[in-house]
Amino acid sequence: PVDAGPAAAPRVKLVLLGDSGVGKSCLVLRYVRGQFDESSKVTVGAAFMSHSVQVQDGTVVKFEIWDTAGQERYSSLAPLYYRGASAAAIVYDVTNPESFAKAKYWVSELQKNASGDIVIVLVGNKTDLAELREVSAEEGQEYAAQNPPMLFIESSAKTAANVSRIFETVAETFCSARG
Ligand code: GDP
Ligand code: MG
Repeated sequence: PVDAGPAAAPRVKLVLLGDSGVGKSCLVLRYVRGQFDESSKVTVGAAFMSHSVQVQDGTVVKFEIWDTAGQERYSSLAPLYYRGASAAAIVYDVTNPESFAKAKYWVSELQKNASGDIVIVLVGNKTDLAELREVSAEEGQEYAAQNPPMLFIESSAKTAANVSRIFETVAETFCSARG
């Protein structure tokens, strides 16, 4: 008999979607490396990183994070990344209402085309820019509540506020859904 050893960590393919410039790459860099880049380069196509997180019951979840480019010319590629994804973080910039409108577009795109049990977290980023804020926390929260079981978090890749919570909440939701 072959000893199978400890069960492999569940893997969660998570795709980041949202307008260019909302901070997707900075969120990943903050989460995976604990760094922030003021002059973050535009992502070309998509970038991949992996990172593990331990959830409350002790389960370790291994994230495979796909950071996509928000530009229109790449949006036809998006299905390649969200197809087969178990989770999606749809990011907007709280100082930019157009990016919030774009986030809603991504939600409907996923509702039409992604797996029915995909875990979606709506992320309002750049909360450190309080004076420039144009999308209130209530607006984001309300939109998420209208599209259950969507999660909602506001974050700042710059200050690190709530960044790891994005991934922890997704990991916990994923684990409780699979029982
Ligand atoms: P992406 O196109 O969505 O990947 O956006 P980037 O991660 O490349 O970030 C775009 C710009 O926003 C860069 O100049 C970042 O330094 C800046 N940025 C990203 N996150 C934050 C944040 O939380 N606060 C502030 N003030 N700037 C941010
Ligand atoms: Mg990017």
